[in-house]
Amino acid sequence: MKNIRNFCIIAHIDHGKSTLADRLLQETKTISDRELKEQTLDDMDLERERGITIKSHAIQMQYNHEGTDYTLNLIDTPGHVDFSYEVSRSIAACEGALLIVDATQGIEAQTISNLYLALEHDLEIIPVLNKMDLPSASPEEVSDQIIELIGCEQEDIIPASGKTGMGVQDVLAAIIKKIPAPKGDPEAPLQALIFDSVFNSFRGIIAYIRIKNGTLKKGQKVKFVNTGRTYDADEIGVLGLGMKETKEIGCGNVGYIISGIKEAKEVKVGDTVTLVENPCSAAIKGFEDVKPMVFAGIYPVDTDEYEELRFCLEKLQLNDASLTFEPESSAALGFGFRCGFLGMLHMEIIQERLEREHNMTVITTVPNVSYIATMNDGEVRTVNNPSEMPSPNKLDFIEEPYIKAQIITKSEFTGSVMNLCIDKRGELTNQVYLTSDRVELSFEMPLSEIVFDFYDKLKSISRGYASFDYYPIGYKKSDLIKMDMLLNGDQVDALSALIHRDRAFELGKKICTKLRELIPRQQFEIAIQASIGAKIIARETVKALRKDVTAKCYGGDISRKRKLLEKQKEGKKRMRQVGRVEIPQEAFLTVLKLD
Ligand code: GDP
Ligand code: MG
Repeated sequence: MKNIRNFCIIAHIDHGKSTLADRLLQETKTISDRELKEQTLDDMDLERERGITIKSHAIQMQYNHEGTDYTLNLIDTPGHVDFSYEVSRSIAACEGALLIVDATQGIEAQTISNLYLALEHDLEIIPVLNKMDLPSASPEEVSDQIIELIGCEQEDIIPASGKTGMGVQDVLAAIIKKIPAPKGDPEAPLQALIFDSVFNSFRGIIAYIRIKNGTLKKGQKVKFVNTGRTYDADEIGVLGLGMKETKEIGCGNVGYIISGIKEAKEVKVGDTVTLVENPCSAAIKGFEDVKPMVFAGIYPVDTDEYEELRFCLEKLQLNDASLTFEPESSAALGFGFRCGFLGMLHMEIIQERLEREHNMTVITTVPNVSYIATMNDGEVRTVNNPSEMPSPNKLDFIEEPYIKAQIITKSEFTGSVMNLCIDKRGELTNQVYLTSDRVELSFEMPLSEIVFDFYDKLKSISRGYASFDYYPIGYKKSDLIKMDMLLNGDQVDALSALIHRDRAFELGKKICTKLRELIPRQQFEIAIQASIGAKIIARETVKALRKDVTAKCYGGDISRKRKLLEKQKEGKKRMRQVGRVEIPQEAFLTVLKLD
């Protein structure tokens, strides 16, 4: 046990965590040069395409340092603010963290927030100054920032490059020297923390565990403390590039367990595994449940696939405990689920994973944050859905969630960042100069104003030189109303949105215009209206189609005609018939795409 080191890699997005992980895997010969790809640990298709880490990835390395063999368990983590929950779970399985800072960028918002997460769990921090190969690196300035931030010495900071391999041996030496070996009693009753899990269609559920006390042997009868259920440890092992079966997993180590579990709800991330004979006296303190920030409806395009969708969401939840869902129904879309997400990127990722990993075609509705309504009779309700908005005569007041936003940018962009935040109903609460030309601005803002397109806007006004982090600070009263959309006089519930009253007219008009562009012309005229209660606040019209599009291909050109029909069919895939009107998927998300 004294030769085990458990550590994670944390940093702001794109500072080079996954690339440095590649170099460590290479240096320790965990993967051969042939197996090595860029960002090897990002093994989900989605991660490779987008070039970002979405899930934490654990891998075990063997390394001989000054004549002694060490087992190093590395966990690579995502950097995007939507996935900080993944980071906090990884941290719970480690004693140390490599804090990577891009020497060309300096400290950014998630550098700070992830560092704080690591410090809360008493992890030993090893600062690494990465991308030293780049001519634009400014090591002195960024080292100063790091020293200021974590209070370390200049010589604690390791200059490195994930590209050239510079500093990689120093990083390995620091891991061995500075990160404490895991504590724990190998003779005590088994106590292992489930820090992640995945569903495998052949093997059932695979739980990733960190052993805090005791030893786990293949074939032992185990019990999951919180659910109270018992299983056989059919297969156990450690995580190399794939799973490597072993006879036992020792105290302090990280590994996996497969016990024939098929039901997603039986495995709770954060649960404790112990032995049926000689169980531990208490569960390990698990993880706080995360609270979703954004809610939206997810509906199967094919209404027959409702049960299938439930099954897929359960499997995804297993691999992503931050996803929540409960059944809901819509007059327009039928049966589906109200899902809770940590942010918009998370929502997009879930939708894509449903499609790629589970072959589901789904429609996602207008997202909103979670509001609290207090009724005239004193009753307090949560409103996660426009349809749950109480009628105005019963409502006393409504509150919306606020966040504290921390924005780090170059000082030349201070003015534009402030304008953006004020436009988003933000209030400046603090302004600190980190260096002569870098400033940290703090705002209190409504969550609803930042979850949708705030980050994109921030990046564009600062030409990429702004990073952003936020955390919830409670609720404030708000003048919120429900805006409905009508198509030919029929209200389409899935297009309703909860918005601030001051925005209603402007938004109503924009949404009508956008819908007019998105809804294809059909055999009849379509009136698009926005209303608040009975009052119509905006209107647009989609003119009727004059003739069938295929009529143009008169006579002989059959193949062209067929192509055109196929193209139409293609376009229909994500259409929904609402009353007589066909609505494309994009229409349900229009509210997000207004400028
Ligand atoms: P992560 O988001 O922190 O995991 O960052 P990645 O490892 O995915 O790297 C982000 C980008 O920076 C990729 O395009 C890498 O090729 C690049 N990169 C990472 N490390 C270095 C480095 O040391 N030098 C240079 N020049 N580029 C790097
Ligand atoms: Mg990464």
